Amino acid sequence: FASRIGFIGLGNMGGSMAKNLIVKGHRLSVFDTNPQAVANLVEEGATALRNPADIAKNVECVITMLPNTSHVLETYQGENGIFQGIQAGTLLIDSSTIDPSVPKQLSSLAKNQGAVFLDAPVSGGVNAAKAGSLTFMVGGQADEFEPAKEILSCMGARAVYCGPSGSGQAAKLCNNMLLAISMIGTAEAMNLGIRLGLQPKLLAEIFNSSTGRCWSSEMYNPVPGTMENVPSANNYEGGFGTNLMVKDLGLAQDAATRTQTPVMLGSLAHQTYRIMSAHGFGNKDFSSVYKYIQEIEKS
Ligand code: NAD
Repeated sequence: FASRIGFIGLGNMGGSMAKNLIVKGHRLSVFDTNPQAVANLVEEGATALRNPADIAKNVECVITMLPNTSHVLETYQGENGIFQGIQAGTLLIDSSTIDPSVPKQLSSLAKNQGAVFLDAPVSGGVNAAKAGSLTFMVGGQADEFEPAKEILSCMGARAVYCGPSGSGQAAKLCNNMLLAISMIGTAEAMNLGIRLGLQPKLLAEIFNSSTGRCWSSEMYNPVPGTMENVPSANNYEGGFGTNLMVKDLGLAQDAATRTQTPVMLGSLAHQTYRIMSAHGFGNKDFSSVYKYIQEIEKS
């Protein structure tokens, strides 16, 4: 399908996703408000353009990977936004994690201009973004999902069609609420075991071959020294920021309130990460909850 692709939002995730598209032979035009993020992609062969409208004028597909709902709305609807430059037939893919009610709105605006909008948030984290092994959860019309598959396959190992517009975001919010809960649980259990005199690596191995096994213990252990190539091995730098997790849990809370759904542990996880954020962990990876628990112990 599209060989000319626009990519907006070249951060921890988007930077690697854009790079993988170049590696697979696509020509990329890029935009980010952070000049360093743009420079990194230009070095890989991408062309830098001045704003989202200019991107939309020059490509057949635009992918956005931005922090939250307000950034996505501004990038689409703002002055020099995507809708200012869009051409009929363009495929718009938003992979940011945002409010599940927004895709419907953007999809109908896109339709008015003869374009197609899909919500396609991702799961997998920064290592999967680098390796091109992300999972995409896609919302939109089923027949519009087919043409997007090839592009998504350049950045991910799986693309799952979830249903009409917003369904990809709904699936993503539920996944991240579970992830937040399991990360706090893993950090608490590791911390207790260590305080009881167990070796952290051994304890992690036991979890990973026992019923406590989960992604947080097996692929992203929060305790420094248990794994390589994860944020806990690098002072919790990079990865998935606590502030982004606060945002996702807030979206899950809003959705739960709207639908009168009980989410007891989801609420507790939301408050825990909000408090961490207020204590200076906002830009650290969310697995730093382990470090935060240790700070509470000391105080
Ligand atoms: P990030 O903060 O590292 O990157 C966001 C990028 O967007 C930055 O480079 C920033 O400069 C740029 N940006 C901000 N506002 C902009 C604007 N108006 N126009 C153009 N560029 C702008 O965030 P990330 O970790 O890459 O996450 C991006 C999205 O993916 C978020 O919605 C997040 O919830 C989701 N996500 C992240 C992970 C993860 O592990 N990091 C995993 C799955 C999903």
